[in-house]
Amino acid sequence: MGGDCKSPGSAFEGSNPSPATSNTRRSIEIEPINEEELKARLDPLSYSVLREGATERPFTGEYNDTDKVGSYRCKVCQNVLFTSETKFHSGCGWPSFYAPTADDAVTLIEDRSLAPRIRTEVRCAKCDSHLGHVFSGEGYDVPTDERWCINSVAMYLEEKK
Ligand SMILES: [Zn+2]
Repeated sequence: MGGDCKSPGSAFEGSNPSPATSNTRRSIEIEPINEEELKARLDPLSYSVLREGATERPFTGEYNDTDKVGSYRCKVCQNVLFTSETKFHSGCGWPSFYAPTADDAVTLIEDRSLAPRIRTEVRCAKCDSHLGHVFSGEGYDVPTDERWCINSVAMYLEEKK
């Protein structure tokens, strides 16, 4: 369910997201994951978001509102996904970024689970875990006009001291 962080007043409704970074799946080597070991290591919500594509409830995530400075890393494989420099307050209920750390930090996958609405799913490029979705053209005052809507529980913040 969900992953659908619509924001009030968004001009996005009805149009399909087409992020400028249209790199879909690449041939990056995915690290093998021991699902049982991972399940034991992560809390149940993190596991179901990362490995089963679930979505945390809006406005409940640890990083939704935080302005702490640092790097957001994948909870499964420690890949650096986003930094606080591109984080902005979208009001949508999930941590929002306007760009990942690098194009090859994440992979984008067409998500038809809410068809006919087509969304773009964001996964960690290193371990293929689900992170959230990316939307574009919503009119946010950010350099890319993109909103990378990411589950807090998919990441941990490595604070800059
Ligand atoms: Zn990862």
